[in-house]
Amino acid sequence: MRPGVPLGTIAGIKIGANWSVLVVAVLLVQMLALAVVPAGTPVRWLLATAGAVTFLLSLLAHELAHAFVARAFGVRVERVTLWLLGGVAELGGEPPSPRADLLTAAAGPAASALFGGLVGTIAVGLDAIGAPAGVVAVMRWLAAVNVLLAAFNLLPGAPLDGGRVLRAALWRWHGDRDRAALGAAGVGRVLGWCLLALGASELLVAGLIGGIWLALIGWFLVSAAGVEAGIARNRMVLHDAPVSSAMQTRIACVDADCTVAEAAAAVIEAAPEGRAVALRTAGGRPEGLVRVADFARVPPSQRADVPVRRIAMPSNAVAVVAPAQRLADVAGAVSRAGGALVVDNGVLVGLLDRADVARAFERGALGSGHPGPGADAGDS
Ligand SMILES: [Zn+2]
Repeated sequence: MRPGVPLGTIAGIKIGANWSVLVVAVLLVQMLALAVVPAGTPVRWLLATAGAVTFLLSLLAHELAHAFVARAFGVRVERVTLWLLGGVAELGGEPPSPRADLLTAAAGPAASALFGGLVGTIAVGLDAIGAPAGVVAVMRWLAAVNVLLAAFNLLPGAPLDGGRVLRAALWRWHGDRDRAALGAAGVGRVLGWCLLALGASELLVAGLIGGIWLALIGWFLVSAAGVEAGIARNRMVLHDAPVSSAMQTRIACVDADCTVAEAAAAVIEAAPEGRAVALRTAGGRPEGLVRVADFARVPPSQRADVPVRRIAMPSNAVAVVAPAQRLADVAGAVSRAGGALVVDNGVLVGLLDRADVARAFERGALGSGHPGPGADAGDS
């Protein structure tokens, strides 16, 4: 997920929102004003806006609950981002035990259910003392939607929270985290297809536009579960091997403004075996990658004139990873991108391409060259 627009920091956790949240906010305000707040309420649109904003804040509370519990177990929290289909708490690592996994996952739905229960109780109280019907209606909706959110998120398939709970349970049961993640992702994929089918039939058979939403969520689950299954499979082979164990460290790095001839000379000089050259900005920041194979696209007679930038991989296709990251977590992205810059605190320390990833898989399959699954899988 892209970081989105930064909105600030809560208790040291960065908060961001994707632009798609604006679409959700507009749809919510409209829906609340037209379908929830009773017709004839004087401040109808104001109430609807307050309801929509409170709903987004309750989503934030759900994600922050995940983030705080993860942090309490020593897991780094990168940021919390709100987007079209809800929120994500991006964690910089994995919960260290099944118990940490379970509590981190359960915290979000627990926060939603708690918020829903609280707002629902207040709504009943306000109704009893004769508060304006519009306020009570919006609060009832907030209560219902939060309880529904808690229940939906507890469906037992990854990447939903219920899938994480299932993963924690399987992990505790047989002691293999990666196998547990694969199982939870498998259920997630089935769940996604079911929601997709349900949404599509709602739309096609019953003519309900809401079916599009359900189908969209189903499609998102199918693809996210696929990514999770891929990472779990990678981990079963690569275990905890870090990026640094597979990267090329003899690397050529040239200014992005230099010519193909200069870049070729740099490869021969610095890394004759290298398959790629890193590009850096005038300020020395790593910014791109050129495959040595692509040098052939420029005839030798023109190499002294053509800027190397012209044969570089598109900058958005180059992955940037950290040497300490788990190879299993980035293998998919590196294979899709074709190559990655390995950057540590702004300094280029290595390159990683498909061939490096493939070799790491071969070594992993042979059971050599990696520390192996030494992490303590048990939990006390
Ligand atoms: Zn959640």
